[in-house]
Amino acid sequence: MDNISSHTKPLIAVEAKRKILLVEDEPDIRELVRYNLEIEGFAVVEASDGEIALRLAATERPALVILDLMLPGVPGLDVCRTLRSKEATMQIPILILTARASEVDKVLGLEMGADDYVTKPFSPRELVARVKAVLRRAYGPTLNRPHEHYEKGRLRIDYDTYEVTLDGQPAALGLREFELLKFFVEYPNRVFSRTQILDLVWGQDVYVEPRTVDVHIRRLRQRIEKDDANPTLLLTVRGVGYKFNPDALAE
Ligand code: CA
Repeated sequence: MDNISSHTKPLIAVEAKRKILLVEDEPDIRELVRYNLEIEGFAVVEASDGEIALRLAATERPALVILDLMLPGVPGLDVCRTLRSKEATMQIPILILTARASEVDKVLGLEMGADDYVTKPFSPRELVARVKAVLRRAYGPTLNRPHEHYEKGRLRIDYDTYEVTLDGQPAALGLREFELLKFFVEYPNRVFSRTQILDLVWGQDVYVEPRTVDVHIRRLRQRIEKDDANPTLLLTVRGVGYKFNPDALAE
């Protein structure tokens, strides 16, 4: 039986709803925050400066950015402004982390489009609570529903823990293969070209060859197909692209 919680979804880029981009130059703080987010089921991508942060925000499409203001190189407020000005990243909620508790920073941060701020030193528990509150405001209450998952026949996908099992056996997927699989199960039997898949799974600001899609499809098939030389789940539609055939999950 299909068990997918969001029906009639608009065709939008796959949101790894629980992926957080953490921008912080101090490794100890990064480690502390990452640890506390991961035990709450979030996936964390780290950036140690503003330049890396801007690149990762566009390619990783995080659900939220935690942004330290005092950064080497591009200052945090400039990162904030740039994220807000680019179409690909303007919707991503930003939580400012700052040691400078002055009102000026707070006002500036919020005027620059940040969604909330936490001043250092902070309790990790409070930070995680703020992250959840911002995510809830941005994406609605479904986000924190425990263990949102898809289950049909041989396949089970846990969107919170990123665990995929086939016939009860874990299939260790890379993040991109996970996002591909998640994308296909959301749009069963629908044919997508390589270019569409790139736009919808990788994001429009990423310049990669359409052939990259084939590479990741091949990897995904190796993980989920009974015989990846004769795929039944992820079908090639000659001259067009690929489609997902959920009926084969019952086999
Ligand atoms: Ca800093």
